[in-house]
Amino acid sequence: MKTKNEIKRIGVFTSGGDAPGMNACIRAVVRTALFYDKKVTGICRGYQGMIDDEFEKLNSRSVSNIIQRGGTILKTARCEEFKTPEGRKKAYDNLVKNEIDAIVAIGGDGTFTGAWEFMKDYNIPFVGVPGTIDNDLFGTDYTIGFDTATNTAVEAIDKIRDTASAHNRLFFIEVMGRNSGAIAIRAAIAAGAEAMMIPEQPITVEELIAIIAKGEKNQKSSSMIVVAEGGKSNKSLHEIVEEIKKKFPQYDPKMAILGHTQRGGSPSCFDRILSSRLGVGAVEALLNSKSGVMVGLVNDKILYTNFDRAIHIDPSVDEEIIRISKILAM
Ligand code: ADP
Repeated sequence: MKTKNEIKRIGVFTSGGDAPGMNACIRAVVRTALFYDKKVTGICRGYQGMIDDEFEKLNSRSVSNIIQRGGTILKTARCEEFKTPEGRKKAYDNLVKNEIDAIVAIGGDGTFTGAWEFMKDYNIPFVGVPGTIDNDLFGTDYTIGFDTATNTAVEAIDKIRDTASAHNRLFFIEVMGRNSGAIAIRAAIAAGAEAMMIPEQPITVEELIAIIAKGEKNQKSSSMIVVAEGGKSNKSLHEIVEEIKKKFPQYDPKMAILGHTQRGGSPSCFDRILSSRLGVGAVEALLNSKSGVMVGLVNDKILYTNFDRAIHIDPSVDEEIIRISKILAM
């Protein structure tokens, strides 16, 4: 543990998948540290930059005019070398060389796993900020970037709906989420989709056919099915599309993949405020001798969760919102 007085310089980095709002969080970390008379260094490209000695001193002007920008000014990277003791030793030596006493790590569960491993051998406190569009971390109601990514998905699905209804078409729309249906669930409800395929609750092709048949009976002019990347069913997505094509040839099913558009763009107001609150919370945690914790927002209050819990406990699926989506899609 380091006391407030022992911490003179705080390091900050972004790591893993980028998420809109990371810049707003970097800004909050820098300005909060300066507010408490601490110095700040940015570490570029996450753990890779820590190993390669890519450090940059930051001041309040370094973070001017970035609250509204997507991506991350510190860049991000994935780094296999940090998974080895030798890699972590190099990172530690560079942190000492650059006089960094404590760190704010903005990233997802991989980033916190790395920090957890590092802290087993070295006495540099880490506090994590959940920066991932997937909203898949235990210990926070929302992660940075999730709201913006969902808004981007909804905007795109609205546009696809216009053409779907003009042609009486059925669209499968793939959104991000290899292990989490969070974006798919929210986007499906907000865009008025008929059904969704998510990793947490598999849906069979027979159930999908029944939903589409019901829509047909109710004279629906178009159908939208939102699919998370890791959406589960008893058949592959390709087989499902083929089967539905045979069953409902009049709908001429098409597939649209939204892909990386969901990561980019200016963060929403919600994400800017979330990022700002979590950034302040992270620095204040370090200065209150906390370490090995992720800062989160639960019921609109700042809360700290140990890394091992944040990483290893699966956040619960929002059953209530799934129930609502089934009632409304008729
Ligand atoms: P995210 O933080 O978005 O989940 P990744 O899973 O890619 O993204 O993790 C980011 C980085 O964290 C990895 O590239 C690696 O450097 C580090 N990391 C992940 N798992 C471990 C581990 N078991 N040990 C050490 N470092 C790890």
